Amino acid sequence: MKLDDAYMDRIEQELFARTMVKKAEGTKVVGVYCAFTPRELIVAAGGIPVALCASSNDAILVAEQHLPRNFCPLVKSSYGLALSDTCPYFHFSDLLVADSTCEGKRKMYEILSRIKPVHQLGLPQTADGEQALQIWVDELYRLRALLEDQTGSQIADQNLRDAIKQYNRIRELITATYALNKGEVPLLSGCEASIAVDPIGFEVDLPSFIQRMEQVIEWAKKRGGLKPRPRILLTGCPTTCKKVLEIIEESAWVVAMENCGGLKTVNIVEEDEEPMVALARATLKIACPCMTPNRLRFELLAQLADEYQVDGVVDLTWQACHPFNIESYSLGRFIQDEVGIPFLQIETDYSETDRSWLQVRIEAFVEMLMPLQRKQAAGL
Ligand code: SF4
Ligand code: SF4
Repeated sequence: MKLDDAYMDRIEQELFARTMVKKAEGTKVVGVYCAFTPRELIVAAGGIPVALCASSNDAILVAEQHLPRNFCPLVKSSYGLALSDTCPYFHFSDLLVADSTCEGKRKMYEILSRIKPVHQLGLPQTADGEQALQIWVDELYRLRALLEDQTGSQIADQNLRDAIKQYNRIRELITATYALNKGEVPLLSGCEASIAVDPIGFEVDLPSFIQRMEQVIEWAKKRGGLKPRPRILLTGCPTTCKKVLEIIEESAWVVAMENCGGLKTVNIVEEDEEPMVALARATLKIACPCMTPNRLRFELLAQLADEYQVDGVVDLTWQACHPFNIESYSLGRFIQDEVGIPFLQIETDYSETDRSWLQVRIEAFVEMLMPLQRKQAAGL
C-alpha cells in the first residue's frame, strides 16, 4: 500500500462511477462547505454528501473576476471552481448547503446562489448556552425539511440513527489513525495521515470508507515506526495544505492535525440522545474560530500537545482569513506561555510563490526544536 496521489485518484474514480449510477437513478447529491453541516441528515434522506471546499490555485484567477484579490484563497478557489464549472463535485451537486460561518463565506454564498441553489444554515456565532443550542436545533430541523422536500423521502429517525453510527465510526477511526502517532516513534507521516482520513470525493459508500481506514491502520502498524524527528502539531485553516505538510516533513513529522477533517471534527454524536439534539450538540463543539469565545480550540490543542508529546505547534492561516489570523495572536500566547512549547504562525495561500520563504521560516523553527528533540531522545 502507498498513501499517495495515485491512491486517492483510484478511490475518487471508483466513487465517481458509483455516484453517477446512483444519480442516474434519481439520488440527489448535496454539496457542503463546512464541518458544521451534519452529513448524517443528507445520508438519512438518501442523498450523497460531497465536500466542496476547494484548494485549486488555478480557480482563484477565475474567482477574482467577481471577488477581491485580498481575500481568503479557500473562498476564492471554491467560488472559482463553481464559476468556471471545472469541478465535477460542484457540477453534479443538486443543492448546496452552506453554513454562515465567516463573513467571506457568507457573502460569497450570496453570489454563488446565482449559479446553484444555496441553503444557508444560520449558525450561531457562539457555542455557549442553551439558547445557541436551540437556535442550531431549529436550523437543523429546517435543513431536515428541505432535504426531505428535495429528495422526496421522509427522514426516519432510525435512518438518522444509522447514519450517526456510521459517521461516529468514521470519527473513531480518524482518532485511531492519528493515535498511531502517539508513541515515541510515529507510524504515519502527516502527508500519509491526511490522505488516510480524507473522505475523498462523493460520500456514496461509507462502509467502504470505514473499511479502507481500518486497512490503513493495520498496514501502518505492520510497517513500523518512522525515524525520530521533531514532532509538530499542525493547527489552522481548513483544507489540507500539501505544500506546508511537505515543507514541515522535510525535517520533522506532523504527528497530529487540529483542522477540519482532522482532530477538530471528531466529536462523537451521542447515540442514546434524541438524534437532532445530539447532532446539534456535537457539531456545536467544533472548535472553530468563527465562534466567540473559542475556548474549546485552546483546550483541545493543550490536550493534543500533551497526548502527542509535541515539540512545537505550527498555525497555518490563509491570507486574509480574519478569524484564524486574529485568533493566532492569543493562541500563540497560550501555547508558549501556558502549554510551554514553541509556536509558529505562517500565513500563506495556494500558490507556490512563497515556498522558499516558508522553507526558510519552517526550517529555522524546526532547527530551534532540535535540541529539545535530542534531549528527549537521550531521556533528559
Ligand atoms: S474552520 Fe470552521 S468555518 Fe471552516 S470548515 Fe471548519 S468548521 Fe467550517
Ligand atoms: S479560512 Fe478563514 S476566511 Fe477562509 S473560509 Fe475559513 S474562516 Fe473563512
